[in-house]
Amino acid sequence: MATITQRLQWSASSALFGWLVFNLAVLAQAERWRPFRPEWQATPRHVRRDGAIGMLNLATDAAASAALTALVVAYLPGHSTWPLAVQIVVGLLVAEFGAYWMHRWSHSGQWLWRVHLLHHRPDRLNVANAITAHPINAVYDKLVRVLPLLVLGLAPEAMVGIALFGLTQTLAVHANVAGSIGPLDRLVGSAELHRLHHSTRAEEAGNYGTALPLWDQVFGTYRRGDAPVRVGVFDPSRYPSEWRVGALLAWPFRTLLPCRGIACLARCCRGPHLA
Ligand SMILES: [Zn+2]
Repeated sequence: MATITQRLQWSASSALFGWLVFNLAVLAQAERWRPFRPEWQATPRHVRRDGAIGMLNLATDAAASAALTALVVAYLPGHSTWPLAVQIVVGLLVAEFGAYWMHRWSHSGQWLWRVHLLHHRPDRLNVANAITAHPINAVYDKLVRVLPLLVLGLAPEAMVGIALFGLTQTLAVHANVAGSIGPLDRLVGSAELHRLHHSTRAEEAGNYGTALPLWDQVFGTYRRGDAPVRVGVFDPSRYPSEWRVGALLAWPFRTLLPCRGIACLARCCRGPHLA
């Protein structure tokens, strides 16, 4: 796909959008043919909800990309002279390192967890979940993944290749499709690993890397094992229902809004959340 994009001189945003639609269609079809858990299939109601959140994310992502690109073109001109393959490998490792730590912090820090909650709130996992995240989540994920690569001065071809691989992985690891990549999941992320990340059991919920499991193996958060019994959050009663999208979008801002008396304590001063 990266080669086609280069040969046909498509813009990066057109290529990524086309790749997103293509992968969503293929994986949604695969989920119907060979579902891993039939009860996790998206209903039309799920598709409408996740589609709406996905559109919101797409718009936020496009704005963040445009701002980042303008910033870098203005202040950091010039491209790396490394061979393209080296740029792609180095870029992938750097992008995944930033994404790994941001994701891990999202599960340990109170406010970032409030942002990340929207992605983990659903109690079923399928390809539509891949695009179900808070727009703030989309912005900080973009920043940590892309900004270091722009600062390194990677060539646009390398950036497109890395972005296409990352997008493919984000969609594939959420897919509710039966099957396994076996020991290859030491090298690349898989749905088997990522289902454990969404487990409601704390001891299973590692695997913060999506495209690569490398940093999980380096920092001791790599998990393998049987599929989780349940996915979602540890204590659903503490949070708005997965269908209250407005409340979940507002969740990160609730600590910032004025509140009074005992209600304020109950609302603002809860302990850190780990799932
Ligand atoms: Zn997560």
